[in-house]
Amino acid sequence: MSHHGERTFVMVKPDGVQRGLIGEILSRFEERGLKVVGGKFLQIDEELASEHYAEHEDKPFYDDLVSFITSGPVFAFVLQGADATRQVRSMVGETDPLEADPGTIRGDYGLDLGRNVVHASDHEDEGANEREIALFFDEEDLVDYERIDETWLYEED
Ligand code: UDP
Repeated sequence: MSHHGERTFVMVKPDGVQRGLIGEILSRFEERGLKVVGGKFLQIDEELASEHYAEHEDKPFYDDLVSFITSGPVFAFVLQGADATRQVRSMVGETDPLEADPGTIRGDYGLDLGRNVVHASDHEDEGANEREIALFFDEEDLVDYERIDETWLYEED
């Protein structure tokens, strides 16, 4: 595997899918140079939602969060690249779109904390990226390959 090998988990939430933003969101990451190594269109059930959002189980917004994330299909995907988790979080922006800088996905497409278009693994939560990938994907669903622009994206091989 390329040593620019960090992988991270991203998901266009039901609001992003309904608003026709899958392509736009995926494009931003592709253009940045992050490599798509897996993708899946699915409707999340209660069980998967409760595992994915386990850390929020005791929060007041938990029930609304689970009913929203299971309310329609999502597009889940895995990106790979140098510091992929941090790069992606900086492109996604703050959790509350009101706080998210313009130019970030949430800052460009969201208005409401509970409808913030996209999920991405938290870089401050050690191992969240691999945990979330494993929740949604089997290892054989992920493809290891080289993109033709990789030699131009990184200073060193
Ligand atoms: N959320 C919410 N109300 C809150 C905090 C969070 O509805 O007061 C939702 C929001 O959509 C967020 C998700 O719960 O994306 C998960 O929260 P987290 O703190 O993990 O934020 P994220 O990692 O998505 O930025």
